[in-house]
Amino acid sequence: MKQSTSKETPLPSVTLNDIGGLPSEMKEEIQQTLEIIKDPGRSAKIGIKAPKGILLYGPPGTGKTLLAQAIAREIGAKFYSASGSAFTELFVGVGASRIRSLFENARKQSPAVIFIDEVDALAGKRKAHGGEEAEKTLTELLVQLDGGHENEGILFIAATNRKDMLDDAFLRPGRIDFTFQVPLPDTQGRKEIIDIHTKGKRLSEAVFASLNTLAESTSGFSGAELSSLFESASRKAVREGRDVVDMKDLDYAIDRTILGSTSRTLNDP
Ligand code: ATP
Repeated sequence: MKQSTSKETPLPSVTLNDIGGLPSEMKEEIQQTLEIIKDPGRSAKIGIKAPKGILLYGPPGTGKTLLAQAIAREIGAKFYSASGSAFTELFVGVGASRIRSLFENARKQSPAVIFIDEVDALAGKRKAHGGEEAEKTLTELLVQLDGGHENEGILFIAATNRKDMLDDAFLRPGRIDFTFQVPLPDTQGRKEIIDIHTKGKRLSEAVFASLNTLAESTSGFSGAELSSLFESASRKAVREGRDVVDMKDLDYAIDRTILGSTSRTLNDP
């Protein structure tokens, strides 16, 4: 049976406004990068080349996938995504051939973004890497990224929590031209993320009034954890036949998030 390694999303619906907590300099840099991609002719005139590859790194659940989708949307590109781990632990030659077909499919549909999450599984340092097969798969990725391939209209975006594990050959300019760190959100960032994930939800007045305090007391929480807080609180309200999220739903969700994590506590605001 042929297993599918990658997913194609015609045009992602996520926009940069759906991502909270990105440092403002980073947003500016991303906007500038997008301008270059959108108008390569003008950029070439002033001697700037459009980037071929972007690396996003940072802790889990901070919005790297969202950001890759928003970039694709901004430049009107189809979104091909795969996880680096889908190319490993395969029979001889399968990892390399999956890489090839991912790029070939995307080239047929350009403009396209190819997004590889957990890229460290695929492009880890060669010395530490798992043998000949893994080496062949990485070599194929490097070949597809430059090796004389016509990658016009293709933007490669990779994401990792472990930038230190990546092979230097992979990080070389021309393969990866821009690297952005996507950090855990600060208090203001957490408030932005909370606002995004409570938009359209019916909250009791008490919950609404507690959102600033919640942002202050959730230091160390990722965007994914904040989003799941409100998902979990809403589900609890629905289960109990209510259409407004109440303080007890939020407290329940906070307890569950803290219990589900080894490193979480609410800090004093
Ligand atoms: P991983 O490293 O684990 O792959 P990631 O950094 O790619 O994680 P996402 O998959 O983009 O994180 O985030 C998961 C979900 O968490 C998103 O779909 C979104 O609902 C929420 N989320 C995460 N970060 C943010 C953010 N900065 N702003 C708004 N929502 C966020």
